[in-house]
Amino acid sequence: MRRKIVAGNWKMNGSKDLAKELVGCVRSEAEALDNGVEVVIIPPLIYVADVVEQAGGKLAVGVQNVGQWSSGAYTGEVSADMAKDQGCEYALVGHSERRQLFGESDELVAAKVERLLASGLTAIVCVGETLEEREAGRAEAVVASQVKAALTKVAAEHWGQVVIAYEPVWAIGTGKTATAEDAQAMHAAIRVTLAEAGAPAESISLLYGGSVKADNAAALFAEPDIDGGLIGGASLKSEDFISICRAMPAGAES
Ligand code: PEP
Repeated sequence: MRRKIVAGNWKMNGSKDLAKELVGCVRSEAEALDNGVEVVIIPPLIYVADVVEQAGGKLAVGVQNVGQWSSGAYTGEVSADMAKDQGCEYALVGHSERRQLFGESDELVAAKVERLLASGLTAIVCVGETLEEREAGRAEAVVASQVKAALTKVAAEHWGQVVIAYEPVWAIGTGKTATAEDAQAMHAAIRVTLAEAGAPAESISLLYGGSVKADNAAALFAEPDIDGGLIGGASLKSEDFISICRAMPAGAES
């Protein structure tokens, strides 16, 4: 049985007020969902405590990033243990914005994944090709290589804490979404890569991300290998976000 997850990545957006209003509303709407979806809010670090205070029940909280160390003289960094201590259950790692704007390498992503899993968090490992790579026919190869590299340090007992989010870079924040068919094809290919990497491929949840909205979520979530979504812009409005959560078909657990 794979977990169905819809996670909202606020990126560097939001405020204390948004944390209060939106999270309270999403929490009560999430309680009414009967489609088995786990709803996650991933705010900027500074608002994690505010969101945790409002969350609970069917609504979990995650962080957008952690450092690769457990503790020490790393000014400005936050550890996976601290995120767990603060009540978080999930963490993003390898988001394309971290890879592109902050130079995060595959090796760093693998080190962070190892640290997150050891701390008991679920790692949402983000992978995805650029437009140039897709147009050059290299999308599957790029994604396979990112998946394999990110998972090199996963111990057998931690596979249950691994989630992969396929987010084509050209679809993030652009309003362009992969077609449900193209997204499904990549998700199926990721499952093959996971099996090659020795992972229990059929039980790992795969999310799609990239301009998911209330009007395209249902088609994406209906695909057999798409187990949920990672949502950016549309997670900042409670009615849009909750509509996306509702778009998950009931009883769709694989
Ligand atoms: C994201 O930030 O991971 C994302 C998918 O953003 P958006 O939904 O805005 O494209």
